Order: sequence, then C-alpha cells, then structure tokens
Amino acid sequence: MEKGVSVERAVELACNSVMNLKIETVVLSKSYGRTLAESLNSKVDDPRFDNSAMDGWAVCSSDFLSEITILKIVGTSKAGKSQPLKIRAGQACQIMTGAPMPVGADAIVVVENSQVKEDTVTLTGPPNKNYIRKKSENLSLGEEALFAGMRMTAASISLAATMGFAEIKVVKKPKIAIISTGDELVSPGDELSPGEIYESNSFGIAALIEKMGGTAIRFNPVTDTIDSLRSALNTAASECDAILTSGGVSMGEWDFVRKLMEEEGDMKFWRVQMRPGGPPLFGEWNEVPIFGLPGNPVSSHVVFLMIVAPWISFNLGSGVQAQALGKYVRVKLQDPIFGAKNKICLRRINITSINNELIATTHTHQGSGNIHSLVAHNALSILPPSVDAEAGKNIDAFWWNE
Ligand code: AMP
Ligand code: MG
Repeated sequence: MEKGVSVERAVELACNSVMNLKIETVVLSKSYGRTLAESLNSKVDDPRFDNSAMDGWAVCSSDFLSEITILKIVGTSKAGKSQPLKIRAGQACQIMTGAPMPVGADAIVVVENSQVKEDTVTLTGPPNKNYIRKKSENLSLGEEALFAGMRMTAASISLAATMGFAEIKVVKKPKIAIISTGDELVSPGDELSPGEIYESNSFGIAALIEKMGGTAIRFNPVTDTIDSLRSALNTAASECDAILTSGGVSMGEWDFVRKLMEEEGDMKFWRVQMRPGGPPLFGEWNEVPIFGLPGNPVSSHVVFLMIVAPWISFNLGSGVQAQALGKYVRVKLQDPIFGAKNKICLRRINITSINNELIATTHTHQGSGNIHSLVAHNALSILPPSVDAEAGKNIDAFWWNE
C-alpha cells in the first residue's frame, strides 16, 4: 500500500485494478455517449459516385471559350435517380446537389450564372471542376474511420451511418455503486434534526458517473458503523462493477471506510498530494475496485475529476484520459491565489475569454465544504506544490465541461 501519492501515481495504481466490462450491440440511434468496442471499416465508398456539390449545370469545360456560352439542355440529374445521363460537347445537363455527374461532363456551372430559354441555357461561367465531389474522396470502401475506444458523438453517429452501420458493438456501461457514509446525513426532502445535514455527494457523483458513460447506482447512506458499511460493500460488490464511497477516509475516530479497508479490504493507496481532495483511498473489496472519496463535497467532486474519470476512461478502452471531463488550458490570473505546501492546489477559478486571453478570477470562499464554489466557478487552478501565484501570473488550469 502506498501513502501520500501524486495524482498521476494514484491514477497509475488504480489502473492496475480494472472493471470486468463486457461488450454489447446497440442500434446506432441509441449509441450516443457509448464507447466503441471495435473499430469500424466503411461498407461503402464516400461519396459512392462522382456527384455535384452545387445546384447548377453539368458541362464540358472545353465549351467555355468566351464570357457567354450557350448550350443545349439534354436532361436533368437528380439526387436519388440512377439514370445514366451522358453529355457531349455543346450540351449541358441540369444537375442538383448530390446528383450523379453525367458521363462526359467535367465541370459545374452554378445555377445563379445561368438563364434558360426553351431548350438552351446561357451560361456566364465559370465551369468549376472543384464542384464535383469525387467518388471515395472522403472514405474508401473498407477504410477504418472509427476506432475502438472512441466515444460516440453526434458526428461519429452520422459517420457510422454513412459507413453503413445500423448497429455497433460498444462497451457495456459500467455499473458503479455510490455509498455515502455518515450518521449526520439525511436525504434532501426529509426532516432534519439538530446536527444533521442533507446528503449531497451521491447526487453530484452520480451525475459525473453518467457523464462518463456509466450507470450510477445510489445506495442509501450508511451509518458510521463497521457492520452497516461491510454489509453495504458486500451488496455493492456483488451487484456492481466498481464502488465509490464518500466520507470516512480521514484520520478521524469514525472514519470507518479507511478502517474497514485496512482491516478487511485490499488497499492500494491512501492519501493523494492534492488540495482539496487529500484523503482518498483506492483498493479492492471482494476483488471489485473501490475508491474511498473524501466526504467534503468539493473534495469528492474534485477527486472524481482528477482520478476517477481518467480511470473510468481507461476501463472503457479509451486510454487514461486526464481530460475526460474537461480541458487543460493556460490562464492569466486576475486575483492572487495561494498554493498548498507539498500538494498541487486546485482552487476554484472562473475563466472568461477577454480580448483573446483567458482570464481567471475567484469569487467565493474556497473551503472544501463549499459546494457552491463549484457552481460559481468553471475551472480549477493547477498550482504546483508549494507555489503561490500573484495577480497577473499565467498558470495551468483545468476547465471542466459543463
Ligand atoms: P468525513 O470525511 O466523513 O469526515 O466528512 C467530511 C465532511 O463532509 C463532513 O463535514 C461531513 O458532514 C461532510 N459529508 C460527508 N459525506 C457527505 C455527503 N454524502 N453529502 C454531504 N456532505 C457530506
Ligand atoms: Mg463522516
């Protein structure tokens, strides 16, 4: 078991324990956000045939010797019609966007530059060869264009359809349990007694799991006793691919997640050099990977962004993606921020683009209990250990996706 590891080392150690995810077939229309389990080779050429990129006239460019060219109309090529049209010198064929190029034509004149009179068309040119979309100029039959590990986006769904796929193989959604711990926790909506607070972490963490393409299974919060925690972990391990707990991982007398993992689990690391988010642990419970997230709401969220998200992307076959839920950018500070001794410091900052520069400000109290700080800001500073940053300095930041 390693203690006090860097964020990178935490991800590396976690990736030695993986979820056992199967593969399933889904119809393309239900594949948004899923991760491809196998690469796709196009079943067709794209385009399938030479066609026009414009509405206009298919012509022989050699006919255009002066500013005005008059040609005989010999037909119309429409998208979806397969008539094999042909033209010769002196002839033009009306053509619609996406319609097959007639044999013999080598250029398009756009409709705006034409005037029809009976069976002739007067064209003021120019005949443009670039308005022909050539067969297979985008993709060739058999070409691999979507790869295992890619997340299906709106554009990749359209591309898979273009390539002829009605259904695709994807990685099964990981089922991830979230177990909140703490005697003080009450579900929002229920009556609060003195000393109690609303349980919030499991809701936000569930949303992050869904954002990563997983299925979140929210367990009822457990009380701070070894027996209730053990029983919840056993159920979660038998029903889910991974477990996230929140709370109970510090040095406190009632930090039972750490205690139970130390005594009966298989702990791989405890504590990470980051602030907020210092106390997390990772290991296996009944051979199922388990992250013990800190209870402080900002900490649990930030540990998910920095450590759990890259681990999930690795499990889905997309590699360890540090940017799974956001982007690393360089920002200029407008307010000074203070670093943390020997830990990377993840202050909540707000990034705005002003005059082509990314400017970062801070607005709220930065305590790790203040979940409002994650709503009032859109990013985290990435301050190296033991470094303060004055106003005007450029620093690295993690700008999360909304
Ligand atoms: P712990 O790590 O259990 O000592 O919790 C640290 C702080 O986070 C305490 O103030 C807890 O009340 C709070 N906390 C723990 N779990 C949750 C939760 N699921 N929702 C909201 N706050 C929590
Ligand atoms: Mg607690």
